[in-house]
Amino acid sequence: MSKVKSSETVKVVVRCRPLNRKEAAGVTGTPGGKGGIVEMDVHRGQVVLRNPHALPGEPQKTFTFDSVYDASSKQRDLYDETVRPLIHSVLDGFNGTIFAYGQTGTGKTYTMQGAWLEPERRGVIPNAFEHVFTQISRSAADRQYLVRASYLEIYREEIRDLLDPNVHAPHVPNVHTQPPHILELRESPESGVYVRDLTSCVCKSVKEIEELMNVGNQVRSVGATDMNEHSSRSHTLFLITVECSQTGPEGRQHIRVGRLNLVDLAGSERQAKTGVHGERLKEAAKINLSLSALGNVISALADGRSGHVPYRDSKLTRLLQDSLGGNAKTVMVATLGPAPQHYEETLTTLRYANRAKNIKNQPRVNEDPKDALLREFQKEIARLRAQLSHREGRGKHRKEDGCDGEGDEEGEEEVEKERNLQEERLEEEKEAIREDGSLLAVEKQRLLGEKEIMMGDLRKERDTTEQLTAKYKVMESKLLVGGRNILDHTNEQQKTLEKRRQEIAEQSRREREILQQVMVQDEETLELRETFSSLQQEVEAKTKKLKKLYARLQCVKAEIQDVNDEHVRSRQELEQTQNELTRELKFKYLIIENFIPPEEKNKIMNRLTFDPEEDQWKFQLLPPSESQMKKRLASAVGYKRPISQYARVALAMGAHSRYRAENIMFLELDMSPPTTVSLDHWPSEVGPNCSPSPTDNAPYRERATRVRKSRSWCQAPRAITSSSSTVSLATHSTATPSTAQ
Ligand code: ADP
Ligand code: MG
Repeated sequence: MSKVKSSETVKVVVRCRPLNRKEAAGVTGTPGGKGGIVEMDVHRGQVVLRNPHALPGEPQKTFTFDSVYDASSKQRDLYDETVRPLIHSVLDGFNGTIFAYGQTGTGKTYTMQGAWLEPERRGVIPNAFEHVFTQISRSAADRQYLVRASYLEIYREEIRDLLDPNVHAPHVPNVHTQPPHILELRESPESGVYVRDLTSCVCKSVKEIEELMNVGNQVRSVGATDMNEHSSRSHTLFLITVECSQTGPEGRQHIRVGRLNLVDLAGSERQAKTGVHGERLKEAAKINLSLSALGNVISALADGRSGHVPYRDSKLTRLLQDSLGGNAKTVMVATLGPAPQHYEETLTTLRYANRAKNIKNQPRVNEDPKDALLREFQKEIARLRAQLSHREGRGKHRKEDGCDGEGDEEGEEEVEKERNLQEERLEEEKEAIREDGSLLAVEKQRLLGEKEIMMGDLRKERDTTEQLTAKYKVMESKLLVGGRNILDHTNEQQKTLEKRRQEIAEQSRREREILQQVMVQDEETLELRETFSSLQQEVEAKTKKLKKLYARLQCVKAEIQDVNDEHVRSRQELEQTQNELTRELKFKYLIIENFIPPEEKNKIMNRLTFDPEEDQWKFQLLPPSESQMKKRLASAVGYKRPISQYARVALAMGAHSRYRAENIMFLELDMSPPTTVSLDHWPSEVGPNCSPSPTDNAPYRERATRVRKSRSWCQAPRAITSSSSTVSLATHSTATPSTAQ
């Protein structure tokens, strides 16, 4: 099913950025010298690191890599020499991964993305986009391609889909921004580790894929630290899947699927140097945790002796499982800063990069996988085409003896013409029926109805065909045909220039390889060929050799010391993290023991289950049962809220207003008749006990009304004479005076 290829090692290249202005001001006059502490021999692929606090006589540290790129290197150099061959492999059906690794602010994002708008400073990702589509446009015409892209980030150990259609980019006005969905990792024997439900978008051009990246970048988590103003706070992975189908010599279609992972890691950072606190500190802890997990995976793979590779320690390492020690061709770009104050971090990066050189992968061509989307597309397109030609055939049949025209477009036009003709004919027939005086009215109606139905059928058929044609065209436009869909805008001169550049890159790569081989062989064979003419000469040569070996011994000793120091340091950091976590755990236990009743705690504990796929504890959903989830009472008919039997009876009896679920206030007009008193008789009517003065006259009525009304509120139910449930306050007020008077 898939061709097995011999194993190959991870390709490791190192890139050093120039000193920035802040560093340059501090560096001049330091032992690091003007150019910082990193020196590079581009021809040999060597990096020499100078310790700014070295004791006299301490040897410098030298590392050799597949390629090295110094501060003056161009983005193009790295691309042509290191990335281009990988993209070719992806187009041939291999999995490929490029990831940048290094301290914060050393140029990982610059290498991977660069400045998009300046052609000279465009990074690996935009160049790869351009490359993939240009390559497709130049490929043979018998090849069909389907290009898909996905974009995700790992933020605080959570995988987020950056192209989730529900997460609208903030630039879209009036649209509510939601946090991206958190996705789960899954593993299958067919496609290895994958992210479940990850959005994947079909792209037909560089512009479309760039647009996708833009959309994703707007949702990405970034934040400023002291070391980098736009520090990436998450690891991001842009995944391009290129499916290519080609007819084999035996006449069968073969599909090859290449996946390209473009990874921009968040930087490793020391808390003290980046000056982060609070949320940023928590982020940093997670970033460092996953990076140290990556370091452990690299160490375990490079060691080769340890059977267990801790891929499951972090999401990042699980995602990169295939890229490190699996089915992929991998390029690691280790980025360095030349400033002396970051000597330790630079050394650590170089050590990891050096170890990664020993990782062996087993890349193979992914041929005819079951889940190839291209095959689904081709099947769907064939089905639509068959449906369309069937319709065309029917159209032609109707036209009686139509000859079998081949061209799709021509056929479509012919059928359309035929349909129009039929419609016109039906219209004419309808007209004739209407004007025919010899027909009975009923008969006329029936015939007209029949014609109308025929017209309807014709229209329906036309609509369906139009829909099918549109769908067919959309599906077909998504497939890229070699040398057809995308136009290659580069002219011949540019093409030749590009070719020359590639050749030069290839040649310098080969030269470096040979030079490195010669260096190794020299050391091994020199002593074999030596013959000595005198004892003196032998002593001299052996002393020289002894000195050399002694120097090497010192180097190894220093290396051991360094590794020990580093080990102690990372152990201290881990202990610190452990202490913090223990403290937090104790605090949580304290809360649980003192504030959560034991039965509640037990209920929660019983609901916990361990998910081995996700490697974490999860809450089980409660099964909906009668006892646990009481159903809300259904509303009584005619009432908005549930109402008890007692309240219903009380309401019918016209009892206290508290039984009314709603409208407890009645705001009807006060219909009580006006109390009019004749001015001439009022003193005698009021009675002898009350002797108001003539000046009290006006307020009297008002007071009386008020008193009466307020009395009505505390009336016992018996005082309410009306039996209707819609007794108003107004009625109470009229009823009361009658009892009071
Ligand atoms: P990282 O992603 O590693 O945290 P960045 O890529 O954001 O770091 O780089 C930090 C700064 O250094 C940016 O301003 C970037 O432009 C600059 N830089 C990095 N590498 C280079 C380089 N090779 N040449 C010029 N500038 C660089
Ligand atoms: Mg970055």
